[in-house]
Amino acid sequence: MTEESLGEFDIIARYFSRRSARRDVLLGVGDDAAVVDSHAGRKLVVAMDTIVENIHFLAGTEAADVGYRALAVNLSDLAAMGAEPAWMTLSLSLPRAREQWLEGFASGLFALADHYDVALIGGDIVRGPLVITVQVAGWVEADGWLTRSGAKPGDLVFVSGVPGEAAAGLAVMQRHILGGEAAAHLQQRFLRPQPRIELGRKLRTVATAAMDVSDGLVADLKKLCAASGVSAQLHADLLPESAAMRQLFEVEDCLQYALSGGDDYELLFTLPEDRAAQVLDTLQLEQHVTRIGVITPAEQDSAVQCLRGGQPFKLKRAGHDHFARGDQG
Ligand code: ADP
Ligand code: MG
Repeated sequence: MTEESLGEFDIIARYFSRRSARRDVLLGVGDDAAVVDSHAGRKLVVAMDTIVENIHFLAGTEAADVGYRALAVNLSDLAAMGAEPAWMTLSLSLPRAREQWLEGFASGLFALADHYDVALIGGDIVRGPLVITVQVAGWVEADGWLTRSGAKPGDLVFVSGVPGEAAAGLAVMQRHILGGEAAAHLQQRFLRPQPRIELGRKLRTVATAAMDVSDGLVADLKKLCAASGVSAQLHADLLPESAAMRQLFEVEDCLQYALSGGDDYELLFTLPEDRAAQVLDTLQLEQHVTRIGVITPAEQDSAVQCLRGGQPFKLKRAGHDHFARGDQG
């Protein structure tokens, strides 16, 4: 079969009609719509994210990494809710139907889907610019889910993983920085973000607020503060160190990536001060999360104050767009 004779039906049948072992999928790909079993006593959680070539990933990115990313960014949203993922739908806009690309895309997508037992239950395919939309659905127990809006003054602010490594990894790729294992590690952090599903599940009933970090630590902490009606102090000295970043970048650039680089897909969350130590101990989180600040009463001028050596300082760049759009100025 030639590339161009690969029609919509062939693409679906070949690459996207995989059977899932999930017993709650009553009717999957192939009919007019899917039917899933709802779980008594649980709440359905739904999220959707679109990734666009040249905006969310570089042209020429391996198809498998694109497939992985399309699902990972969505699972990260479910993680931020404390939800367990279950199903997804996929809308693909493709300039052309290249078998090799589709094969790679499906392999990256399903590698992550299988890891979390997520079933692909439907979707759509159109011809157009390379744009991929995934919708994920999952569930939480009825007694609680995470939101951005519950942080209270005095709560401690935590982040998982090592913020900034993904943005540094993107810079490594865009500037073709050679750097052996350190460069490979950072690139991997950009290309294969790990959705923090297990962490979100653990935090579900204990964190006062949570969200995933996609636009940069400070930018996203501002959103959490806005949703909670509070402000925050972020202590830059407390940020986890990245040996790989330090090997390839100046201290100031590392700080910049950590505070305003995007694409980390880590969890940012708050815990009441009096319970924080015990929660981290009980859930065995000490190795995986870092305390980076504290929630303060709402202030008018700036929702997030960054401190270094106890002194306030201003970020050189606020958002993550500089990194995401390939502007290295
Ligand atoms: P219709 O035109 O009736 O909506 P489609 O041809 O669009 O039917 O889709 C046929 C079936 O294939 C549906 O079950 C749909 O959910 C599924 N499907 C279409 N595209 C995808 C895709 N990219 N991934 C998974 N399932 C898909
Ligand atoms: Mg359709």
